[in-house]
Amino acid sequence: MCLSHVVPVPKISRRSVLAAGVAVPGALAFGVTEAAAAPATFVIANVRIFDGRRVIDRGHVVVSGGRIVSVLERGGVPESVHVVDGRGKTLLPGMIDGHVHHTGAVRTDAPRFGVTTELDMVSDPTVHGPFKQQRQSYAPTANSDLWTAGWWATVPGGHGTDSGLKIPLVEPDTVPAEFVAARRAEGSDHLKLALEDRNLVTTKPIPVLSVDQTNKLVAAAKKLGMPAVAHATSQRLARVGLQAGVNGLVHIFFDEVASADTVALAKRTGAFVNPTLTVWSSWESAANPASNAVVNDPRVAPYISATQRAFLDTPWGFERPVLQPAMRNVKILHDAGVPITVGTDSGIPGVAYGVSLLVELELLVRAGLTPREALTAATATPAGIYGFADRGRIRRGLRADLVLVDGDPTRDITAMRSISAVWRNGAPITR
Ligand SMILES: [Zn+2]
Repeated sequence: MCLSHVVPVPKISRRSVLAAGVAVPGALAFGVTEAAAAPATFVIANVRIFDGRRVIDRGHVVVSGGRIVSVLERGGVPESVHVVDGRGKTLLPGMIDGHVHHTGAVRTDAPRFGVTTELDMVSDPTVHGPFKQQRQSYAPTANSDLWTAGWWATVPGGHGTDSGLKIPLVEPDTVPAEFVAARRAEGSDHLKLALEDRNLVTTKPIPVLSVDQTNKLVAAAKKLGMPAVAHATSQRLARVGLQAGVNGLVHIFFDEVASADTVALAKRTGAFVNPTLTVWSSWESAANPASNAVVNDPRVAPYISATQRAFLDTPWGFERPVLQPAMRNVKILHDAGVPITVGTDSGIPGVAYGVSLLVELELLVRAGLTPREALTAATATPAGIYGFADRGRIRRGLRADLVLVDGDPTRDITAMRSISAVWRNGAPITR
């Protein structure tokens, strides 16, 4: 949502630092120190493979040099390589969280829960240089790979301006193309627009980008080849974004039932929706059992760091029952064929990097996606939308970001709580 809701991050405990294998708290952890040394070549054998779209009931995946070098659908286990026994388990591509806010240099919490790529949706762009280098590299790392929106497009007094941070704003005399070019120059990978006309905490009206500003900002982003995405929690403003041609909505709106016109508009423009149901569920204590069931599950709880707990336990301070209307709109749009992607809004209260993606998958299934569709929404779909050719699938030549889970999450999504191993660039993560 916005930076004004970012929780102060507690001091990282020695235990969590050690668990993550990071040598220096707060330091950018690149290089080979934090991920255990991997055998040069290994095979995950006799495993069910979810390749991002399709399920292969039993196969072998060979990894070498940080990449998947072969996916064998038949035959015996290749000889002369280190073998990881995959019997009774499912291998999936590393998950992509399509909505987070970057809050710190150490990004090891997400990979420990199988989330290997994160799309930041507003944060300070000046800290992102090392992450841009990392995402090109195949060296072992325990950090997630990160793409960023940098600063977003919002107006004076508008959504996301009450944080006290000095951020560039779209003033009445701002030239939209110049605003977008400045964000591009700062390092923004995509443009995020704040289409919000009320304070989400107090519900009081606030200024918002005009239709004309929205149209021009989106057109300018497209001209520069930047995806444009919009925050909108009302159907009316979601439609303003869709009519401007945004690539996607990075929340599902919940104030009204999605109309036939809105569905048609989304279909016509090809926009995707990243619902962030887990953050909407955190607005109502009655909905929290869904989240609590995941985060307190004995297969999950021991791996949650102090930082993650602090985010999860920070209350919003109000009750708003928006989960059911949000889930109903996800179902309407999904049934109509609008692409859904998985996102958590981690970096704000009530949700946490990595672990909240497990909650989001379960909520999407409750909303009406099949388990396999929910898993595609966390892998192949976002990779296709953002043009990530090296990830999101299990295919020969792709980056060996892999998640091994006990059981079959393509039939029972709660099996994602049973993570057995995670690899980043072919190197195992210490969970
Ligand atoms: Zn957000």
